[in-house]
Amino acid sequence: MPSTEGLAAVVDEVRRLVAFRSITRGPNRDLIEDVRHRLDALGAPCHLTWDDTKTKANLFASFGPTDRPGVVLSGHTDVVPVDGQDWSHDPFDVVERDGKLFGRGTVDMKAFLAVPLAMAPQIAARDLKRPLHVALSYDEEIGCVGVHRMLAELSRYAATPAACIVGEPTGMKVITGHKGKRVLRCLVRGVAGHSSRPAEGVNAIEHAAELIAHARAVAKRVLAEGPFADAFDPPTTTMQTGKIRGGLAVNIIPAECVFELEIRFLPGDDPDALIDELTRFAREHVEPEMRALDPSAGFTFEEVVRYPALSTGPEAEVVALAQRLTGETETSAVGFGSEAGLFSLAGVPSIVCGPGGIGEAHRPDEFIELGELARCQRFVERLLDELCA
Ligand SMILES: [Zn+2]
Repeated sequence: MPSTEGLAAVVDEVRRLVAFRSITRGPNRDLIEDVRHRLDALGAPCHLTWDDTKTKANLFASFGPTDRPGVVLSGHTDVVPVDGQDWSHDPFDVVERDGKLFGRGTVDMKAFLAVPLAMAPQIAARDLKRPLHVALSYDEEIGCVGVHRMLAELSRYAATPAACIVGEPTGMKVITGHKGKRVLRCLVRGVAGHSSRPAEGVNAIEHAAELIAHARAVAKRVLAEGPFADAFDPPTTTMQTGKIRGGLAVNIIPAECVFELEIRFLPGDDPDALIDELTRFAREHVEPEMRALDPSAGFTFEEVVRYPALSTGPEAEVVALAQRLTGETETSAVGFGSEAGLFSLAGVPSIVCGPGGIGEAHRPDEFIELGELARCQRFVERLLDELCA
């Protein structure tokens, strides 16, 4: 059993991490430098991969011998914004009440990161036969943007890890599957004009609407016809337009419209086939009419988010490992995405397993229960025992 003292150190670490306002898209440099400084002092080599602005970075730290496959504990340092949310206290100053820690990023997902970081002195003191790696990323919340740079360098840091556990909140359940995601940004270029003569311009909003309506019809077809995977809710790939902007005034033919369309796809399903279907519809059925009036009118597509689905087979060693560490015998799938699919794609078999409930994430008065922290601490203690054996 973890000591109360050990749990107190984890609580302090949660407090410390939450105090860094590492909001997605913003910098996380102070948090990363703080962690690097402390792990360096313990003799754990830290590798940083910076974004282009040099204000945020991923961190990959290793304990134990790096020339053989080990286990990665991975999580993101960014948290969703608090704007417009009704918090009962400063979201970045953790409040402990009723056996819970309240604060932005407690459950999603600084509590998970806090466990190995609080335990770092004892991890460094252990005689690890296989390495334990701790991976921290940036800008996960906008579509797993940051971690790509770390994964591209992974082979330079250590032998390919045997397993990765991504600690998104699952109530310490072992999650072997999630959907993948693509987001397409579509720019529709029309031609402005006086609204009294609609036929003399090209209405970007209305042409955008034609494609959006078609995408909706395709989404309904997929929902009705599948393919289906019962482990997921809903059990099919889904698609929706979630954002749109266009037009200056009601009496001007709008020259521009931008919308974003999201596809969340089942493992094994091919999102590119859907994207092809949509872009072909735009090219063959919408653009010709636009270009008849002005050849510069039309559609431009840009992919803004891309991460794969996760589908780790029951035979994978990481599944058995996570089951031993949690005592869980079942595995399941979740609706939200994570970096686990990208680790898997990079050759590191991965699952998702972390403390707390996803239902508490992204909300005002987000919290993690102390009991969940203690379970996660036991999980890491058992992992250490395995890596020392
Ligand atoms: Zn998260």
